[in-house]
Amino acid sequence: NNCGFSGRKGDLYTSESGESLRAILSDPLTGTLMEDAMILPCGHSYGGSGIQQILRTKDCHTCSLPVSEDSIAPNLSLRLAVQAFKREEEFHVNNLSKRRRERYEQGGKGDFGDSTTATTTSTDRQKRKTNHFPFAVSDRVIIKVSTNPVIPMKKKRDQGNKRTPQRFYNREAVITAQCMNGWYVVKTLDNAESVKLQYRSLAKV
Ligand SMILES: [Zn+2]
Repeated sequence: NNCGFSGRKGDLYTSESGESLRAILSDPLTGTLMEDAMILPCGHSYGGSGIQQILRTKDCHTCSLPVSEDSIAPNLSLRLAVQAFKREEEFHVNNLSKRRRERYEQGGKGDFGDSTTATTTSTDRQKRKTNHFPFAVSDRVIIKVSTNPVIPMKKKRDQGNKRTPQRFYNREAVITAQCMNGWYVVKTLDNAESVKLQYRSLAKV
């Protein structure tokens, strides 16, 4: 008896740890998520479709304990768990496709020079992506300290230097022209020096 008990326990452990959460939350008979979970007196649960089958055979599919129709009750906590699991799953799927879309857009529109900046979070990037032209001509702006990574010499030649020259840091300027892809020509207020900078290098005064 003792042997049988420990063997059974071992089986349970193996199957539970080996199965995915989705499998655990799914009806053992039909394999569908138990959104309408019902619990039998033996403690095993089934979804609505599995219960129909249990009521025909009148015993638990898992442990063979006899089942009568009025001994079945809804398993409310399991239903909640299934709902939570479905939300999580949807969230992950959405997140995944969003990330894929972002990567695609980034590839399509070319390198902005800071795609490798670890400090730029994906939501940050997304926010900026939606508005490449946050400024208008004659807006007053502050030239920000560049956070772009230093681009190696070879790349620099291919793409142009996207780092803001240091002498412009924290100086006030006025937008004089708007160019492609979020680039602006700005003129510093103190000595009227013109420089072409991307919108990320600028902040509204
Ligand atoms: Zn059972």
